[in-house]
Amino acid sequence: MTILLNANVESDLAQAVQLLRGGKLVAVPTETVYGLAADARQPEAVRAIFTAKQRPDHHPLIVHLGDMAQLDDWALRIPTSAWELAKQFWPGPLTLVLEKRHSVHGVITGGKNTIALRMPAHPALLNLLRYGDLSLAAPSANPHKHLSPTSAAHVMATMGGKLAAVLDGGECVLGIESTIVDLTGDEPRVLRSGPITPTQLAETLGCPVACPLQHSIAVPGNMPEHYRPRTPLRLKTAQEIQQDANYPVARMLLTLNADRENFSFALTRVMPSDKPSYARLLYRALYEADQLNVREIWVELPPSTEEWSDVADRLMRASRS
Ligand code: AMP
Ligand code: MG
Repeated sequence: MTILLNANVESDLAQAVQLLRGGKLVAVPTETVYGLAADARQPEAVRAIFTAKQRPDHHPLIVHLGDMAQLDDWALRIPTSAWELAKQFWPGPLTLVLEKRHSVHGVITGGKNTIALRMPAHPALLNLLRYGDLSLAAPSANPHKHLSPTSAAHVMATMGGKLAAVLDGGECVLGIESTIVDLTGDEPRVLRSGPITPTQLAETLGCPVACPLQHSIAVPGNMPEHYRPRTPLRLKTAQEIQQDANYPVARMLLTLNADRENFSFALTRVMPSDKPSYARLLYRALYEADQLNVREIWVELPPSTEEWSDVADRLMRASRS
């Protein structure tokens, strides 16, 4: 049985700490998406994450820290750039990939010699990490390849029964996964786009930062079929939507344009035109489509600017069949 705990209730937070210390899995709220957490210092507990998610064991996990100084506990030969980025963006949606300490168990890193580290900004999770003296290995709290959850209800619906507890900390305010930047090479390289853009990273570092589309290495978060709803998702231009709007198939439309509300879609969601609000609502809308059992989800192509690149990236992966 999976129990529901309230992140605003102190005794519930204490219970989450006890469960995690006891090697159990607890889904935790972050500002990006809900994470499926285990005590990163207990390899057996971390292994249980892979079973619960049915995630292949070579996919590395992000370790969540309560304090920047803990970088030293997990990483070796930490470059100045890591400290600069952590100072600027932590707590926040930026994951740093660094060389791992020899003592870090391979179950966390998928057998790699690098480790991904982040300090999350959700206040309840920061409390849990700091006062519970924990570091938490946590991928997104969804079955492998599926949509990341942005509410406790999403986690319960797709992972209930597979973990000890879900800590309800409300809806995730960002709603999209962190930016991952690899600092182990000659030049910083974004492995997964996210709320923090390459331009912001380059401004802080004062050097160029390579972008996701310019590299071809398949890291797990970069696999084409990630982040997918059950319902087939099609990316469409405004023109394609206009042309096919009255085709008689049960479809849901996510659009940026209120004029499209008259079209004959089973459901039309007019999405906010500012990127942060769009990102916050995206996965919720896709979950909704899955629950409606529509045949297809049509999504109007988002703007092709750098600011929207994380949303565009997730939609592109979601649309691959
Ligand atoms: P998720 O499972 O959705 O939380 O994603 C965790 C992400 O962190 C995956 O996309 C991994 O590719 C990425 N990640 C974790 N550790 C590493 C690492 N050592 N090198 C590259 N990417 C990593
Ligand atoms: Mg994930």
